Amino acid sequence: MMVLMNREATEEMIQAVIERLRSSGRDVKRHESRLRTCLEAAVQGDELNEKEFLSMDGVVDVIKQSSPFKLVACKAGQEKTIVDVDGVRIGGEEVIIMAGPCSVESKEQIDHLAKMVAANGAKLLRGGAFKPRTSPYSFQGLGEKGLRILRDAADAHGLKVISELMSIGQIEMLQEYAHIIQIGTRNMANYDLLKSLAKIKTPVLLKRGMGATISEWLLAAEYLLAGGNPNVILCERGIRTFDSAKDMILDLSAIPIVGRMSHLPIIADPSHGTGFRQYVTPMSRAAIAAGADGLLVEVHHQPEKALSDGPQALLLDQFTNMMSQCRKIAEAIGRFIAEPNEKE
Ligand code: PEP
Ligand code: MN
Repeated sequence: MMVLMNREATEEMIQAVIERLRSSGRDVKRHESRLRTCLEAAVQGDELNEKEFLSMDGVVDVIKQSSPFKLVACKAGQEKTIVDVDGVRIGGEEVIIMAGPCSVESKEQIDHLAKMVAANGAKLLRGGAFKPRTSPYSFQGLGEKGLRILRDAADAHGLKVISELMSIGQIEMLQEYAHIIQIGTRNMANYDLLKSLAKIKTPVLLKRGMGATISEWLLAAEYLLAGGNPNVILCERGIRTFDSAKDMILDLSAIPIVGRMSHLPIIADPSHGTGFRQYVTPMSRAAIAAGADGLLVEVHHQPEKALSDGPQALLLDQFTNMMSQCRKIAEAIGRFIAEPNEKE
């Protein structure tokens, strides 16, 4: 049995429920999230009466069957989580755009792209400094030097930074430079890594594993919440398909499904989800129409020279067009995307 207590429940109310559960001789596990406290006890069948708990102060719900989605699940009446990234709120009315190149390649490249994405209303600058490449001979990223370049450019243009982390040893460094730590598709199920990220409070963008079901993905997020990091943003980035015309299918249906199953914000990555720039704008429009709280988009001013993912990077004028089309879609569903920034 799980007893869910609301945010306003006092410690006294929580202890009263714990005592009542313990009176049946069971151990009680306590899970905390920003939105509620969940008390769990292995109670069989009708041993305890759920109505009795529902009438106790501070209790919002009682779940008799044990569900694995203890903290990621969205319960009746529960508000959506808004992850506050140093003032940029993800999961609210505003649809947040994160844009930049696949990899940080040079200071000139990042300075150019930071100015351009900021001018178009993006709120976060993306760029990988530690790259998970399929081939060991491909460009592996600039490491800390790349993070420094990214952070300096972001600071100069009023942007926040999102960058990928691949190992536990990189956590401290990423915390120093990034406002959001990205966990890529290949590491979604790296549970040791997730347990370590659960111990910090830096927001984590958790991409869906390319072969993961929605349940497996939500359980990966559960690792972060259960370990104490409530600042989790989900990202649909495409899953493997049998269709030889393309590598991935951007699973747009995951957006409303996750919206029903979980209180966590969810964004879409139409770049990795399609692999080709000509599909990025239509899928961006569709993702916002489906309810995405944001987009993670690759952009490059010289994609033919890009050290990774050139074919899927939007050209600069394509990015500007994509932003203005997406603004209209957001408005049509009662949301908004920041206007272009005239000062940039
Ligand atoms: C990326 O964002 O550049 C990246 C490697 O993403 P993914 O993990 O979705 O492949
Ligand atoms: Mn990429």
